[in-house]
Amino acid sequence: MKPVFSIIAPVFNETGCLDALYERVSEVMDSTNESWELVLVDDGSTDGSTDMIRDLAKKDKRVRPVIFARNFGHQIAVTAGLDYSRGDAVVIIDADLQDPPEVILDLIAKWREGYQVVYAQRTEREGESWFKLATASLFYRTIYRITDVKIPLDTGDFRLLDRKVVNVMNSMRERHRFLRGMSAWVGFKSIGVPYKRASRFAGKTKYPLKKMLKLALNAITSFSYMPLQLATWVGFISAGISIIAIPVVIILRLVGSQFFYGQATTLIAVLFLGGVQLISLGILGEYVGRIYDEAKGRPLYITSEVPEEN
Ligand code: UDP
Ligand code: MG
Repeated sequence: MKPVFSIIAPVFNETGCLDALYERVSEVMDSTNESWELVLVDDGSTDGSTDMIRDLAKKDKRVRPVIFARNFGHQIAVTAGLDYSRGDAVVIIDADLQDPPEVILDLIAKWREGYQVVYAQRTEREGESWFKLATASLFYRTIYRITDVKIPLDTGDFRLLDRKVVNVMNSMRERHRFLRGMSAWVGFKSIGVPYKRASRFAGKTKYPLKKMLKLALNAITSFSYMPLQLATWVGFISAGISIIAIPVVIILRLVGSQFFYGQATTLIAVLFLGGVQLISLGILGEYVGRIYDEAKGRPLYITSEVPEEN
């Protein structure tokens, strides 16, 4: 039977958090007096989280395990959760309890008012390093500026999506996914709910700098051509400068000025333009590589276990 609410949590090595997550989510969801399911997507955990998920599913039929064959990354894990969710409203939440499950009730209240996307907006973040805070703030503001969709500031993936929105998002099978961008891109009636982001319940962050950079690159390339246009602009600017500089240098030479003698000037110009060209090539490569990934058409994820009934 289809439940009213689906809660999705991606899990990557979260043994310390899983039981508490289950307890708190069940308590909150039971208080709604509606049917619900908890879709736990195991993203290739190696610390025993997989068995814990299986145990929870045995104990409570409302827990639906989706087990990946290897680690595919947070955004893909949430995607699988969306694929296997059946509820009329779907809530995405982190497994580490940084998104307090109690806020789900506020999200549901807005959904009942008729909103189809209710995103939770962080007003405060507890227990994060200044580096994470600074990079996150820079990230959200950069994305807001340079992408075509207006992704609300300081929102993560913690949000409620109406079934209609989930169906649209499930039909978008792009590989390099930035879900909050996709959920803003599809539109629908949206609203934010402020909340205080807690510190991690247990364990360490699973988002090292490398993964954060990857996410940022995916966000930018999925929703903006700005980096490509930047190369065009730098090209126009240096071409413009050369149109002015060439006659100036020729005239200075003809009148016998010593100003542009020597290899230093040449070397600087060559190195600078060489750098600009390689960077442009790299930017182009980011987009071409993504086209290649799409062209291969591989599945987004591979599961080794999925919930029985669907
Ligand atoms: N996660 C995942 N796969 C990964 C990395 C993270 O499923 O490759 C999950 C993780 O278990 C957690 C959520 O994504 O439920 C957010 O990760 P984390 O809390 O480490 O990120 P942070 O809050 O530090 O940005
Ligand atoms: Mg976290």
